[in-house]
Amino acid sequence: MSAYLEKRRAIMLGLQAPDPKKEPKPIPKISEKKKAKDAVEKKAGYPTPVKKSSLRPGQRSEKMKGIMAAIKPLYKNFLKEKPYCEIRSPVCTSEATCIHHTAGRGMNHLMDTNTWEASCDPCNKYVEGNDQWARDNGHKYSKHKKS
Ligand SMILES: [Zn+2]
Repeated sequence: MSAYLEKRRAIMLGLQAPDPKKEPKPIPKISEKKKAKDAVEKKAGYPTPVKKSSLRPGQRSEKMKGIMAAIKPLYKNFLKEKPYCEIRSPVCTSEATCIHHTAGRGMNHLMDTNTWEASCDPCNKYVEGNDQWARDNGHKYSKHKKS
């Protein structure tokens, strides 16, 4: 029998007085180790960690929202002048309902109507999915060629 069990047995049989109850030690919320580390970092002048932008991927920034709001009437006017699709892909419905950006939608080209084409919805999607066709037919210009 182990010393511990022997002692327990002696206590149980009344041969030995039980140990006085130990006061439970309160557990500090911040450990001494952490406190010391924090103190060192404070002394060293570490900057407080700054929260990064709360913008989720795909979420538009306020600036972008403003641009999109400003561009909407321009889209409308453009389509009034060019009611027919200019892309004429094999899936064309001929009725222009949206704008295709031949130079992409970067900030530099977004507002430049020279890079705009009136497009029907199927063509707009077709151009996205058929990069080479779009380039061959002059509906896509960019420095970043895929080929
Ligand atoms: Zn079309």
